[in-house]
Parts: sequence; structure tokens; C-alpha cells
Amino acid sequence: MSLFNVNAVRQDFPGLLHSVHGHPLVYFDNAATTHKPTSVIQAEVDVYQQSNANVHRASHYLSSVATQRFENARKKVQRFVNATRPEEIIWTKGATESLNLIAQSYGLSTLQKDDEILISPLEHHANIVPWQIVAQQTGAKLKILPLSHTLHIDPHTLPQHFSEKTRLLILTHVSNALGVVNDIAALCKLAKQHKVTTVVDGAQAVGHFPIDVQQLGCDFYVFSGHKMYGPTGIGVLYGCYNLLEAMPPWQTGGEMIQQVSFEKTTYNQLPFKFEPGTPNIAGAIGLGAAIDYLEKLDRRQLITYEHQLMNYLQETLNTIPGINIITPTISTDQSKNIPIVALTFSHEHIQDIGMLLDQKGIAVRVGHHCTMPLMAYLGIAGTLRISLSFYNTRQEIDWLVESLNSILKHSEEKHSETAYPSSKD
Ligand code: PMP
Repeated sequence: MSLFNVNAVRQDFPGLLHSVHGHPLVYFDNAATTHKPTSVIQAEVDVYQQSNANVHRASHYLSSVATQRFENARKKVQRFVNATRPEEIIWTKGATESLNLIAQSYGLSTLQKDDEILISPLEHHANIVPWQIVAQQTGAKLKILPLSHTLHIDPHTLPQHFSEKTRLLILTHVSNALGVVNDIAALCKLAKQHKVTTVVDGAQAVGHFPIDVQQLGCDFYVFSGHKMYGPTGIGVLYGCYNLLEAMPPWQTGGEMIQQVSFEKTTYNQLPFKFEPGTPNIAGAIGLGAAIDYLEKLDRRQLITYEHQLMNYLQETLNTIPGINIITPTISTDQSKNIPIVALTFSHEHIQDIGMLLDQKGIAVRVGHHCTMPLMAYLGIAGTLRISLSFYNTRQEIDWLVESLNSILKHSEEKHSETAYPSSKD
């Protein structure tokens, strides 16, 4: 293993220190939400204790401190994803709201009957349903791309799916169900050549590796704070300035306006045009603290450590009979997978195993992971998903494997006890 000091890092995460059903918590549900370091929790507390005021509204001292911290967090996000200017960063509730905003503002105002929206089968429901709705509203059509044998969107075959009518390419950067990473830079380059606008769901990417939206060449990129060690209820929509500038407002109210009369309303400049009402001030500042936290760590070391953990997990799971690993064989190329392993069992229900693991203090997620079309594509109802973070350890993986071995052994014994006796006499 690398020199990465996981024990020191774990001290930063008070939420990991719990016992569950008499066992130390083993948190393997990081794709659902990550734990938060003390510095993020403290940043939120500080907002309410030190600078509690509304932003952009008043001329008093506290309001200007709150506004400065809030806008400073926006600049941190801008640097974090390498956007060209802070106006390209819109605060939202999360990836879900960002995607709805793009669909209802950009999608609704640009799509026409019979236009085509290319979409991947890997998408989370949050990146499917908004496009279905806007397709119903405009008469546009969703066209589903095929997956390669490694369950990625293949840049080599993408061009054959573009037509005169293609307007949008909707892609996840990383699949929350499988952990596969799409080659977004190559895919967006092809889209650009065909004058197709790209919407990238980065919800599962930002917590695992650095993002550079200029290098990716995407038009829109969305993510949530809570999957990158930040607070819940805060997210980001990055959009190219020219596109955002041309888009109509989506939700309306205070702060997104310039002038209101009963005859006519004019809208505020970016980014405020898309931020009506009082924003999640503490959440934005907390997300800024999460960025500070990640930037203090050596991210290259984190990536290597996570990849080593994932290889170890896959190797050890492979030794257990009766487990089917759905995640494609983990590549030695760190850019192809994040540390997620999805499983099914030959003889047991995933729900039962998830419940029995919980009794051992191990938190995993079972089900369709908000990717029902992907499950249908794979011909399965759901999986048990183990999703790791850099604060997980080999010892935790050992405990998981020991627990799975003992659960499956007991289950096998039970099956053989209840099996009908042989009809041979
Ligand atoms: N996209 C992906 C790939 C996700 O994993 C998730 C969350 N599971 C979302 C979108 C939605 O994120 P949120 O619930 O934070 O809005």
C-alpha cells in the first residue's frame, strides 16, 4: 500500500467513529453520501455563530461578511473545476436540481419537435426524468446509446449515433451503480465536432479525482456537495458563460431580478439570474471548506490509495463462491473505474445480505441505485453496492469478506438442511 496515512485521515471524520449493533461502523455507502470532516461541520457552525445574515441584500456589517464568505466559496468552486469565471458557477440544491434547471431552461428553450437527445443507459434517474419531461414538452426524442463490453460509452462508436437532428448528449462522468468512468474529454470533443451540446453528470466524479471543465470540453457539468465531503442541500451547475447568458430563468423570485413592475420584469446578471430566493449560505460555505480539505490532501496519493483498496476488495471478493461481480473487471488504468463494486449472489437475495451485513456494522446499499434502466439493460433487478472512500481501510475490507463468508456459509447450511431428501432409496 502507499504511504498514505489513512489512520490520520480517519481522525478528521467524527461520523466514522460510531458503533453499529455492537461493531465499529464500516461505512461502505460513500456513493450515496460521504462523511464530512470536522472542518466542514465547523464551517457550517461558524456561519450561524459568526456571520448569520442574508447575502446580497443589506448594507450592514454581518451581511457583508456573509456575502463575502458566500462569494468566496463560489470562487473556490470555480478554481476547483477550472471554470473561466465565477459567473459560470450557479448554486443549486444538488446535482438533481442542476439537471432540472438545464432541462427546463436550456432544453425547453432550444429543443424542437423531432430533435434528438442522445442519452446513456448508465444514467441516474436524476439525469433521465428531466429529459423525458422536456422531450414530452417539446416533441424531442430520447435516443439510447449502447454500452461497450466494459459498460462504458465508447468514443469510437459514438459518431455513428449523431444525426442532423442531434442536439444534446447527456452523459454521466462516473456511473453511481457500477463505478465505470466515461472518457468525457473524448466524447465531448466528438459532440463539439457535431455541434451537439453536452451535459455531464459529475456527481460521482468530483469526490474521487480532479475535474477541469475546460480540459473536458463540456458545456454543462453538475455535482452535489454531499458526495465530495461537503454538506447536503448544496450543489453546483457549471455552464459555459455564453450558454448561461442566453438561457431564460427557470425558477423565479427575489434576487434573480433587476427590475420588477406589473408591466414587465427584467432579470439579474449571471449567476444571480438562476439563484432566486435565499440560498443555502451555510451549505455553500461548507462546500468551500470541503474543497479546502481535499486540496490540503495529496489527491494523487488519494487516487492511488483508493485504487489499491478497490483492487484488494475485488481480489478478496473473487475468493468467495456464490458471488457474481457485476462491475466490469477492474482496470489497472486508474482513470477507468472509481472504487465501487456491485454484486449479486447466486442463491441469496441482496436485501437479505444487506440486512445481515448491517448486523455486523457494515453499511452497504442494495437495490437499483436509482438506475432502473441500467438494471434492465443488464438484465438484473438490482445489486449490492460497496462504494469506498479514501478513509476506508484494508481491515474493513477483511471484516466485510469474513462477514460475507460466514453469512453465505450459514445460508448454504440452511439450504442443505431444508433440501428434500434424495429420492434414491
Ligand atoms: N447523479 C448521480 C450519478 C448520482 O449518483 C446522484 C446521487 N445518487 C445524483 C445524480 C443525484 O444527486 P443528488 O441526490 O445529490 O441531487
